[in-house]
Amino acid sequence: MTADCLFCKMVTGAIKPDTVYEDSDVLAFKDINPQAPVHVLVVPKKHISTLNEFDTGNIDLIGKMFLAAGKIARDTGVAEAGYRTVINCNAGAGQSVFHVHLHVLGGRTMNWPPG
Ligand code: 5GP
Ligand code: ZN
Repeated sequence: MTADCLFCKMVTGAIKPDTVYEDSDVLAFKDINPQAPVHVLVVPKKHISTLNEFDTGNIDLIGKMFLAAGKIARDTGVAEAGYRTVINCNAGAGQSVFHVHLHVLGGRTMNWPPG
């Protein structure tokens, strides 16, 4: 928990997100500015600022985030048609909230390469 972190406040309930999935390790909620019909953010409950801060001590969390993403994709009906998972790492990749999060995007055709 980091006091001034937006996503930590969602984990503690100080700010109530539109939650779509939760377990003991991760929280998933709808993005406030969706870029696709399905746009969910999966965050670890533990504060980790960027993908660069993952190491062997917390590697299990990455797997749990992706398992949650797969479940969300199935539950929202986009798993078969296709969906995209994205982690933006640091400002050059567009990261704007420094509590690591996995974007789950689906419900429309995705272009490649991303911008
Ligand atoms: P990033 O740019 O760091 O990869 O993604 C941050 C995401 O957080 C953006 O897609 C943005 O729309 C979303 N976001 C920012 N503030 C809020 C908020 O207060 N609530 C929710 N649900 N999403 C937010
Ligand atoms: Zn945080």
